[in-house]
Amino acid sequence: MSAAAAARSILNQLHEVMASRLHAQAKLDRVVEIIGTALNSEVCSIYLLREGMLELYATRGLNQSAVHVTRLAMGEGLTGTIAAYIDTLNLAEAKAHPDFSYRPETGEDKFHSFAGVPIVYRERAVGTLCVQHVEPRRYEDVEIEALQTVAMVLSELIAHAELVDAEDGVGLTPEMTGPAIISGQTLVKGLAAGAAVFHQPRITIEHVVAEDTEAERQRVYRAFDRMREQIDQMASQAEFGAAGEHEEVLETYKMFAYDEGWSRRINEAIDSGLTAEAAIERVQQRTRMRMREIDDPLLADRMHDLEDLSNRLLRIVSGQIGTAASAGLRRDTILIARNLGPAELLEYDRRRLKGVVLEEGSLTAHVVIVARAMGIPVLGRARGIRGVVSDGDEILLDADRATVTVRPAPPMIDAFEARFARSRERQAAYAELRDVEPFTRDGTRIQVMINAGLRDDMSLLSLTGADGIGLFRTEFQFLVSATLPQRERQTRLYRDVLDAAGERPVIFRTVDIGGDKAVSYLRSDIADQDENPAMGWRALRLALEREGLLKAQARALLEASAGRVLNVMFPMVSEPWEFAAAKAVFEAQIAFLRGQRRHLPDEIRFGAMLEVPALAEVLDLLLPQIHFLSIGTNDLTQFLFAADRANPKLAERYDWLSPAILRFLRRVVQASAGYPVDLGVCGEMGGRRLEALALLGLGYRRLSITPASVGPIKELVRKVDLAELGRQMTLWLAQPPPDLRAALTEWATARGIETD
Ligand code: PEP
Ligand code: MG
Repeated sequence: MSAAAAARSILNQLHEVMASRLHAQAKLDRVVEIIGTALNSEVCSIYLLREGMLELYATRGLNQSAVHVTRLAMGEGLTGTIAAYIDTLNLAEAKAHPDFSYRPETGEDKFHSFAGVPIVYRERAVGTLCVQHVEPRRYEDVEIEALQTVAMVLSELIAHAELVDAEDGVGLTPEMTGPAIISGQTLVKGLAAGAAVFHQPRITIEHVVAEDTEAERQRVYRAFDRMREQIDQMASQAEFGAAGEHEEVLETYKMFAYDEGWSRRINEAIDSGLTAEAAIERVQQRTRMRMREIDDPLLADRMHDLEDLSNRLLRIVSGQIGTAASAGLRRDTILIARNLGPAELLEYDRRRLKGVVLEEGSLTAHVVIVARAMGIPVLGRARGIRGVVSDGDEILLDADRATVTVRPAPPMIDAFEARFARSRERQAAYAELRDVEPFTRDGTRIQVMINAGLRDDMSLLSLTGADGIGLFRTEFQFLVSATLPQRERQTRLYRDVLDAAGERPVIFRTVDIGGDKAVSYLRSDIADQDENPAMGWRALRLALEREGLLKAQARALLEASAGRVLNVMFPMVSEPWEFAAAKAVFEAQIAFLRGQRRHLPDEIRFGAMLEVPALAEVLDLLLPQIHFLSIGTNDLTQFLFAADRANPKLAERYDWLSPAILRFLRRVVQASAGYPVDLGVCGEMGGRRLEALALLGLGYRRLSITPASVGPIKELVRKVDLAELGRQMTLWLAQPPPDLRAALTEWATARGIETD
């Protein structure tokens, strides 16, 4: 009999049993009979995971008295090994296997051959299905295939609780066992609790056994066609660039999407009697098992891609399309995803979305910058999280400590609650500072502004009591749009922002796109060839050459600021002429509007970002031309240390409090003295307490920071004696202590200044 025919015959019989009104135990007893008979095996047994142990739930051929008595730990005996390693065993002589563990109560000593497969549910073993034979022979491949298919059907049946029988207490729903703690990388600090929600909801497979095999085949064909269309479309629009993915991924997707082997295997699974959904899942499981045997990180990545594609196919075939955002969040939620685009994040209900856990993600990914602006904690690089969590599981996200706890035990909840309460208390104390102006102890007023980029961020201005928007990242509008935002749309946004800000200043930074901030509709020109996108054709470099872009933005900013003050800042200025050229684009637009007798801004102030070290060497040439200078420490540090800011391996290597950076920043303060130029810092550095302290000590009086940091920084400012700190900083810079961070921490602690 062919593998397909054997499996189909078993499936048909299983189908009948499941549809019957038998009790759970009686159903399982029938199942082992059916499989044993079909495979001509004297023994067929099912072990299921209960309370962390694999328990014999049903058997044909072993002693019935062993049922619910024989229990094995994960990794114990052949059954435990299969479950622990999610592996298939096929042995002519079971006793010869080093993991064999003899259980006398089962009476299994007369059986020589043994084959077993794991019953897998959501990538975890929840049991095993085994057959045994007196005669010492290995099982045929077709038999193993049939066993695997049956195991899959069983797992779905278990998942759908069709085997649960409450009356006799035989609950067979696979348990997602106790708590699990997963570490990752802190992308946005903070604590949050809520229920797990998958960004791409898992597909529920309603029917496993097919009624009409031909119809299922047609469904798969159609789904393949749709999926290939989608992939081709993606490739032509290169939307992938916007999601931060690489060309290479797209290539792999294409390769898999058109892989004949893959579609053939799915077809074979349909031949064996499975529905289209079950067949896709079955093939996926088999690939997963194969891949597990290969210890190759590159292949593991490819596996990820195939998994994504397989899920896509499943979604198409089952009609379960759409993300969790479209379904709506019903309670406090921790969102789980492999990766996420900024636009996708923004689709969620902000009141319910409390935290995000990503399997991938990096510090400068746009989704992270957006989440930071929204005040949502994010943990990245939480490897394997999707295999451990089930939809609806309780989750404690502690992004401060870079961990996520799944299904926490009560003491974990208590400890978390205590930390959470302390953090909330602190937040409340900061909120009280909202209307308090940040003066240092010796009476200097420090400007504390916020970084923003979205219309929604404007509410944070009054919420935090910040002095204004020190950096409005206009590229966010470009990043979250599917097409280039037309001038009118830009004008509308800028006008809304200025309306919301009222009297408080807003510094608009012209678009900083290009490089890794690629947007799909500009993709054809940029990023493709850049090997080092951060140092590539981005920001002002791109804007000066795509003059239409800058012109439209200049006009939008000028029109939106009619009758008000416009502060405009250019990113990535490396040489003074770039600033002059950008300013000239604005001046041409001013002349045009004046010619049209249009209403102009009352005042226009131009500024530059200092984030390319070269600019520091020619400040004397630039300063006479500008009203303000803002240091972008995020980019500046990566260029100063030649250390990619997105590379997690380097994340901890260089310190913002290193003498190299601090001396550099001090030089900028000194070089700017005597010019009527407002000097500030707008990188992430200024939002951290110890770093902010250092900046104040160096002479910076304006910080533009992430909104969540306004409270903590205001509180810090009020505790500082600037004169004393300045003197100390001069000493440290002249003769740096071995660990400046430690020295500054000690200095602060001695003065009652919290530094965490
Ligand atoms: C910076 O580089 O420090 C900065 C503020 O700009 P961005 O993070 O948007 O590059
Ligand atoms: Mg920058």
